Amino acid sequence: MRIVVLAGGIGGARFLRGLKQAAPDADVTVIGNTGDDIHLFGLKVCPDLDTVMYTLGGGINEEQGWGRADETFHLKEELAAYGVGPDWFGLGDRDFATHIVRTQMLSAGYPLSAVTEALCDRWKPGVRLIPMSDDRIETHVAVTLPDNGASPDSGERKAVHFQEYWVRLRASVPAEAIVPVGAEQAKPAPGVLEAIAEADVVLFPPSNPVVSIGTILAVPGIREGIAEAGVPVVGLSPIVGDAPVRGMADKVLAAVGVESTAAAVAEHYGPGLLDGWLVDTVDAGSAERVEAAGIRCRAVPLMMTDLDATAQMAREALTLAEEVRGA
Ligand code: GDP
Ligand code: CA
Repeated sequence: MRIVVLAGGIGGARFLRGLKQAAPDADVTVIGNTGDDIHLFGLKVCPDLDTVMYTLGGGINEEQGWGRADETFHLKEELAAYGVGPDWFGLGDRDFATHIVRTQMLSAGYPLSAVTEALCDRWKPGVRLIPMSDDRIETHVAVTLPDNGASPDSGERKAVHFQEYWVRLRASVPAEAIVPVGAEQAKPAPGVLEAIAEADVVLFPPSNPVVSIGTILAVPGIREGIAEAGVPVVGLSPIVGDAPVRGMADKVLAAVGVESTAAAVAEHYGPGLLDGWLVDTVDAGSAERVEAAGIRCRAVPLMMTDLDATAQMAREALTLAEEVRGA
């Protein structure tokens, strides 16, 4: 079975670990979000690709969900001693090595997809990980900074890089718009459309619907490719009990006019894209609304508390995919 998964960072990576346990013989292609990518200290950092690679490769910091296990921060401290920032993005020493290798290869002319493949040679994630595009796409968030006089730009409306909104500002001000800068001109990376066209099933893990999966779908050709592939497309809700399980997805959903409920997210993807949708058992009451929108819906436990629970979620998604196949 060939499975294509569109993945962000933590939610996508953890789900993929369960999927690998549930379908050990499946051929899994992961299309990773690169809208979160950022240049720091002259290095290209791809947080979501790395979270998937480290999680599936056994190098992730389990508690945090991102970054490397057994990490130290000497390099960051030394940079700070020179007064070189930013200081709000946590890059550890081990993690730095990944970004150095990546940047070196990109500077030598390799596309990001080839670089990602090379990095995965070390981590052996057990899936084929392809960035959504080799072209540069950066998610920006329009915000109005609080008018507290605390900084020179307070009260100003401006666009900030997604990482600045998420990590530095901790989504403390409303997101007024989300713009995947560069997406319109971008092309899917080699292998992306082919994997979609050859897939037996496409899964949307419980990743952020706006800044993870939404950004991937913004690359021209990907949404159309999925809709036209004629294969079951099944998603799992990242919203449980009307709130994101972790993170601040409600802030970016509000920016695109979508309420933070499992049903609203399904409607946001829409029946033109989504055939099946899993909501958590606490949201069982919303299944009717999802089905009324023309999307087959089941309520099952959706908390990725451990590997077995996550594998069970993946099994439910594959079962629902079989149910909607040809329906
Ligand atoms: P990010 O790039 O690291 O933010 O990760 P993703 O976009 O892949 O996933 C973030 C989403 O995962 C958040 O909106 C969370 O609500 C969701 N999430 C995290 N843990 C769980 C879980 O155990 N169950 C469900 N259903 N969603 C989860
Ligand atoms: Ca992310």
